[in-house]
Amino acid sequence: MVNFKKLKQFMEIPETAEMLLSRPEKETTLSINLKVGPNKLLNYSGYVVYHNSVLGPAKGGVRFAVNVTLAETRTLAELMTHKCALMGLPFGGGKSAIAFDPKSISEFERRTLIKEYAHMLRDELAAGAYIPAPDLGSTPSDMAIIYGETHRPESVTGKPPRLGGLPGRREATGRGVSTVTASACRQILGKEVKDVTIAIQGCGNVGSHTASFLFEKGAKITALSDVSGGLYSPDGLPVTQILDFIRQGKLISEYPADNLQKIENEALLKLPVEILIPAAVEDVLTKDNANKVATKLIVEAANGPITAEADEIFNRKGIPVIPDILANSGGVVASYVEWRNAKSGNQTSAEEVYQFIDSKVEPAFVEVLRLTKERKADFRNAAYILSVSELVAAMKERSWI
Ligand code: NAD
Repeated sequence: MVNFKKLKQFMEIPETAEMLLSRPEKETTLSINLKVGPNKLLNYSGYVVYHNSVLGPAKGGVRFAVNVTLAETRTLAELMTHKCALMGLPFGGGKSAIAFDPKSISEFERRTLIKEYAHMLRDELAAGAYIPAPDLGSTPSDMAIIYGETHRPESVTGKPPRLGGLPGRREATGRGVSTVTASACRQILGKEVKDVTIAIQGCGNVGSHTASFLFEKGAKITALSDVSGGLYSPDGLPVTQILDFIRQGKLISEYPADNLQKIENEALLKLPVEILIPAAVEDVLTKDNANKVATKLIVEAANGPITAEADEIFNRKGIPVIPDILANSGGVVASYVEWRNAKSGNQTSAEEVYQFIDSKVEPAFVEVLRLTKERKADFRNAAYILSVSELVAAMKERSWI
């Protein structure tokens, strides 16, 4: 959640704007019932949050996770509002979620569940008021099922490329993370990425593509993990082989690594690397471990991996944190291209998508860096100065305030 008290140390915010940005516009709770057999009824809770739609329709992924809550969905929708504003996209912030364990149900049940979710949201999906995409636990095939229900290619992004999805969308968030990391490395640490060591926590969509792009740029990735644990080598990991291995559906802990050290996720966060990239889940850096973090720069590839207390500790210790709304915005930038192509019929190559992402995230990073110096703000508040300024201007133009 934006800490407006802190942000107001760096900028003026009209009281009315603060009020509108401090709470979601609309929240819906779903009770999704599925009769999947003569005596089998499944029931799952779902949540849909529109945080703020002043810039456009609510855009944000649909999360599938057993413990997901309305509060978590609300926080993620708020991040999307600021991410879209920071990137200059005509989208508001939204998010949805279904509380279930994707491993606990059959493929048929999963398809039925997603169809029912799309059916319950049919009016807002058809109107283009909320545009889902993949997030933690959901996949392009799930987006294809939503498309199958709406019959409107612009109603959902992150679809498989042959169904109107975008070449490069899968890699897009990792692309943006790697571009921002390279710029931050050069402009904050004064080094090229090929000259630094990097630890990445999480090896799903975001972590794996971030690792792959940074490895291509010559970075030494010394640690990489997934939920099962990680691998560490001070000389650098064989990233391509490890990624090929996990893309077969295997866990990192199963990787045959005679010459590599196994490492717990918690220990990975404390490695003495130049750059630490949490790319898995929320709240992994907390007041309990922040003081033991030995990196020079943190890039938030995941949404919200640092608690507010840990953020304070990093500020005090002078460890710069590139915030999620800047670092992982490549995904929504690519989603914008997919949505635009769905409306216009244009097609775009992966290379064009990567260039478009770079053309959005690089100048945003430079502007955020400039504001850290001009306003003596940390990177998170500098990014919020830009997003909030944009949102306030739009609210004035729409006579909301
Ligand atoms: P994913 O489901 O593809 O991958 C998650 C990864 O984290 C997996 O490797 C998993 O094994 C690992 N993991 C899960 N729990 C863990 C734990 N407790 N400790 C360590 N590792 C753990 O998810 P994703 O799409 O890569 O998303 C990762 C993060 O990035 C999330 O916070 C998501 O909201 C954010 N994000 C994703 C996108 C996107 O385009 N997919 C865009 C912006 C932000």
